[in-house]
Amino acid sequence: MAEVLDKFEVINDILVIKWEGGEESYVSLKALRDGCPCAECSGETDALGNLYMGHGRPKSAAGYTIARAKPVGYYALQFTWGDGHDAGIYRFELLKDLADSAD
Ligand SMILES: [Zn+2]
Repeated sequence: MAEVLDKFEVINDILVIKWEGGEESYVSLKALRDGCPCAECSGETDALGNLYMGHGRPKSAAGYTIARAKPVGYYALQFTWGDGHDAGIYRFELLKDLADSAD
């Protein structure tokens, strides 16, 4: 499923993504940060496919604010968080998953 991102903005603590075609996704910044796909946050997969999660590590409040967001090619967004963390590349599919899994 190829999504094309039209535009995005952060409103309070929600990332609002508008897809080409008019559909919108909403992801809370907490879900976004906790869903960071970088190796440091998402854990490593061992040879048997077991995933060791790095989630649950305490983050400062600044860690749940976005300092900067920029598109990566035509497939992902990269966020710089308030605590300086910027290793996560959020593919559009991941952003949709995070939005869909939100309450
Ligand atoms: Zn991360």
